[in-house]
Amino acid sequence: MAISYPPRIALAQTPTPLQLLPRVSELYGQGCRIWVKRDDLTGAALSGNKIRKLEFVVAAAREQGCDTLITCGGEQSNHCRATALVGAQLGFHVHLLLRGKAPQDIDGNLLLDHLAGATINHYAGREFSSDDLEQVFTDWQNHYASQGHKAYCIPIGASDGVGIWGYIAAAQELQGDMQAAQISKANVVCATGSGGTQAGLTLGTVLHDVPMQVWGVNVCEDEAWFVNKIAADIADWQQRYQQVLPGPAPVAKVIDGYVGPGYGRATTEIFELIAELASLEGLVLDPVYTGKAFYGMLQEIARGRFADCEDIIFVHTGGIYGLFPQRQNFSL
Ligand SMILES: *Cc1c(COP(=O)(O)O)cnc(C)c1O
Repeated sequence: MAISYPPRIALAQTPTPLQLLPRVSELYGQGCRIWVKRDDLTGAALSGNKIRKLEFVVAAAREQGCDTLITCGGEQSNHCRATALVGAQLGFHVHLLLRGKAPQDIDGNLLLDHLAGATINHYAGREFSSDDLEQVFTDWQNHYASQGHKAYCIPIGASDGVGIWGYIAAAQELQGDMQAAQISKANVVCATGSGGTQAGLTLGTVLHDVPMQVWGVNVCEDEAWFVNKIAADIADWQQRYQQVLPGPAPVAKVIDGYVGPGYGRATTEIFELIAELASLEGLVLDPVYTGKAFYGMLQEIARGRFADCEDIIFVHTGGIYGLFPQRQNFSL
């Protein structure tokens, strides 16, 4: 299918490498080859999956004549850090609404948010349910309007009909990677936190007819929540861009059971796996997203979930700055 993409501002260093993990494959692959799509290498400070989504989101903001970006996330949000730096790079003012009270130590992503010059509000005790967030966004948008500015509100994780274009394009990139590596069919695994990465990959698989099955390991909420959320993002995309799909909208495959103690909190197994991967392959995972997803992937390989093909591709979505504020959890 020939797809016409909406306006896009090039920010990510792409294509990212597709890299084989020989020692991990040997140890845990059960005969499969385990690869990693290095989306942690989309940039240095601008690393991770959010950059791909922001290419389309920020282009939409610019098209609408906005000069300010408002978004929301946790204290160590990779998405907020990426937005703060992209905004600085492109000359937008950035306003971040962060859940939880202001911490004593300004570390990791939060440090970068400050360095990038973002305006930051900490919201203690607010979870930002979608209605609540809508209202807070509108209030801030009105505040900026009253000062003669036009603000664009980016949903959590830039996951909506606009942001998912980033991973529709990434699915096309993966198709090329697979051809180059002579992979005829693959299971693709990513961490799912707000759903946009998985939504884009799932949709892109259909649009570009890529021989892969996408699986998301959720790091918060549950399977039903993400199946709905991803369906909603795809519906939003169809509606905004008047897109007609060749068949029914694809349904997301979510692997539940690896959230652990909660969003952003991980068990000892996850920290041990992060250390193991760093020493075995020089690959650095994070405790919030990729560590849990990689752990879930290894468990599911052992259970035979991916036995239908010989190649498994883990999408490394970044998150390295979220590692440092959790340094105390490693036994060193
Ligand atoms: C945001 C994020 C994810 C989850 O992606 P979503 O599109 O929000 O589901 C995964 N990994 C990292 C490192 C992230 O920052």
